[in-house]
Amino acid sequence: MMFEVFDGSFTQQEPIPEEGIAAAMAVLQHGRLHRYNVTDAEHGETALLEQEFAAFTGAKYALAVASGGYAIGCALRAIGVKAGDTVLSNGFTLAPVPGAIASLGAEPLFVETADNLTIDLDDLEAQIEASAAKYLLLSHMRGHLCDMDRLMDICDASGVLVVEDCAHTMGADWKGTPSGRHGIIGCYSCQTYKHVNSGEGGLMVSDDAQIMARATIMSGSYMLYERHLASPPADAFEQVKYVTPNISGRMDNLRAAILRPQLAKLPQQVEAWNARYAAMEAGLRNAPGLSIIERDPRGVFVGSSIQFRLPKASVDEIEVFTSRCAARGVELKWFGAAEPVAFTSRYDSWRYARPQALARTDEILSGLLDMRLPLTFSVEDCDLIARIIQSEARALHGRAALASQSG
Ligand SMILES: *Cc1c(COP(=O)(O)O)cnc(C)c1O
Repeated sequence: MMFEVFDGSFTQQEPIPEEGIAAAMAVLQHGRLHRYNVTDAEHGETALLEQEFAAFTGAKYALAVASGGYAIGCALRAIGVKAGDTVLSNGFTLAPVPGAIASLGAEPLFVETADNLTIDLDDLEAQIEASAAKYLLLSHMRGHLCDMDRLMDICDASGVLVVEDCAHTMGADWKGTPSGRHGIIGCYSCQTYKHVNSGEGGLMVSDDAQIMARATIMSGSYMLYERHLASPPADAFEQVKYVTPNISGRMDNLRAAILRPQLAKLPQQVEAWNARYAAMEAGLRNAPGLSIIERDPRGVFVGSSIQFRLPKASVDEIEVFTSRCAARGVELKWFGAAEPVAFTSRYDSWRYARPQALARTDEILSGLLDMRLPLTFSVEDCDLIARIIQSEARALHGRAALASQSG
């Protein structure tokens, strides 16, 4: 039997588009990298990016910052979260999410995970009632969107303000509304492994003038906010400009220059990702012992990664399965590992937070595997990777059947 192996890289992104390289070179040549270092005749790449991102999301205001994690921390500060406040968030997310909460001296309180990896809305309702928390930092982890209508009904009914972490949903939508536009602020990451790539970078959008005025001052606008093209009107700054601390975290013109052409291309990229995702999902669908995470058809997601579960497999079996896949060139991240590897996504590894036990989340994460789908993979690569995973799932299934016979 042929033993197929994949030799591509799961961490290799596409090159920056030619227009982005040319725009970056122009910035390097004129040397005005700081966003407020502009001539009378120009707006600067950062202000233009904000204007374009506001248009892309349909938001009144947009602000570009240094990272996705910075955007989230800034959003929490701008809506008034204070040290000691409780901020609800997903039990399944990435370390910068609880980290942003902790950076304010606030306390994360994690909510259970539903079968489709979204926040569990029944548990959210119960935890809002039990904690009287006034803030939710909602993480659309791995691009899985919960029922946003129900989530907003729950939060609006209790006066809970929602900040959306859209690190994995830039370009996605829920029933036609862009991800990041349900809550009071949406936060995005432009880090290399997200949907646009400037190495590091973040974006925030909102329709709330006061909140965005505060966020702009905090990001380090040195009272130069009139040079923005997607910021609130000057009068919104009058009440906040002397009382809002500067916590510098601006974006620069070099990164913005790299990002603008990528943003213009994003709808095309989303199609390319989803073609790869569809191939992978089709290839995995009938693998024995393996369950696909179903995507809610009411949302348009961006298939930049795929998750599946081996719900019946033991720790040993998953270790054998992932190492056999790795030996054939297929890199899978397992969320159930005892020790965090490379990046952390388990709520119990964030020991600065109040200890919590989330039985449902534990059960889901224990068999959950995750794989990146960079756009340097072709659809044929995805077919091949799926065949490798299929054959290892069959082998695992075969070994398990044998063991139960002899046992
Ligand atoms: C990457 C990421 C962030 C933060 O983005 P950075 O730009 O790396 O700070 C936030 N949330 C999730 C779920 C992420 O994956």
